[in-house]
Amino acid sequence: TYVVTEACIKCKYTDCVEVCPVDCFYEGENMLVINPSECIDCGVCEPECPAEAILPDTEDGLEKTLELNTKYSAEW
Ligand code: SF4
Repeated sequence: TYVVTEACIKCKYTDCVEVCPVDCFYEGENMLVINPSECIDCGVCEPECPAEAILPDTEDGLEKTLELNTKYSAEW
């Protein structure tokens, strides 16, 4: 899955939301998040993010970020 990192905080762009084929972006407290169980790993959103806030969760140190994405996307 892909995850949205803290670089998204207060970001006003929603370019990622528009390109996602499965609509798996949700609104967190002050940033967007990706629902890990809905994300199909297509990678289309990654280059669209102007804040470079979207990363594959296979990168190191993103455990907390994945938790946040899971938590906030589950509330919907
Ligand atoms: Fe949506 Fe694809 Fe990005 Fe996953 S990788 S959030 S499915 S655009």
